[in-house]
Amino acid sequence: EAKSTGNGTVRTFRPEMDGRYVAEQRLRTDLRHAIENGHLSVVYQPMYRPDGSEMECCEALVRWSHPERGWIGPNIFIPLAESMGLISDVTRFVLDKACADCAEWSGGMAVSVNLSVKDLRGGAITAMVAETLARYSLPAARLHLEVTESCFMEEPVAVSATLSRLRANGVTIAIDDFGTGFSSLSYLDSLPIDIVKIDRAFVRDIGTDPRRMKLLSGIVHLSRELDLRIVLEGVETQEQLDLVRKHNFADLVQGYIFSPPVPVDALESLRVNGVALSKAGSRAVSGRK
Ligand code: C2E
Ligand code: MG
Ligand code: MG
Ligand code: MG
Repeated sequence: EAKSTGNGTVRTFRPEMDGRYVAEQRLRTDLRHAIENGHLSVVYQPMYRPDGSEMECCEALVRWSHPERGWIGPNIFIPLAESMGLISDVTRFVLDKACADCAEWSGGMAVSVNLSVKDLRGGAITAMVAETLARYSLPAARLHLEVTESCFMEEPVAVSATLSRLRANGVTIAIDDFGTGFSSLSYLDSLPIDIVKIDRAFVRDIGTDPRRMKLLSGIVHLSRELDLRIVLEGVETQEQLDLVRKHNFADLVQGYIFSPPVPVDALESLRVNGVALSKAGSRAVSGRK
């Protein structure tokens, strides 16, 4: 039933709101349990040279296998973990697994781990990273850390200070989802970053909309002027990949055109067998170096 609140707005009580609240509380309880009992897992999405010749790095992406609801994506449970004060447990788990796996990979491939703004508030992450690298004897150069553009917006001073320390220790820093955080471009040159990951929103329509091409081109040129490496997210179609190659829009490409996120064993077979992709119209398979 709708009830007038007297100030012109109408408040509606719907019984399913109660249900939704209960469901969210349940999810919180389940998440705490999952974190405590190791029910999270990590999948990897490769980043390739645009010609597909080399897998240089791969991104660790966390997954939650819920006993009744199946796979729950990070867009749902990362914010929950943040609000419950559990994000550092998630980060510790992903970082540990990613470094353990990376230490097994031949050829010096790097692994990239996402951080939350909450990880960057204090100094604890610096010690956590150093300890984890030491545990697996992994050189710092093989670890990349991704921080979204909006983190810099939320806490510019604390985030920059922590990242500078990590970077001084040899870790590579990437700004994630670049272009979606409404940051001022004027300070892009002062952030302690090495890599720009341009959000997939800037790739989506490049084949059909000349203005989107120009926008992407502008971001790419700006990033190159600032000596930043460029990763393009969300490349899905051959048409997009052809344009990216033709205009030299990226150092590395991450997207479904090459591979979705996959379990670690599947990543290994991608590394050994290479990706099948069309090169100048013909299909080619590139093997590992
Ligand atoms: P992100 O860091 O920008 O990761 C890329 C997301 O885009 C992934 O979603 C990936 O599956 C998806 N993606 C990759 N290629 C394509 C493509 O070609 N097309 C489309 N449509 N999507 C593509 P996922 O795994 O659901 O992760 C979502 C977000 O959750 C991540 O965005 C990241 O911000 C966050 N996240 C994931 N793992 C972690 C983690 O361990 N810690 C933290 N703090 N955040 C994480
Ligand atoms: Mg990321
Ligand atoms: Mg991203
Ligand atoms: Mg993104």
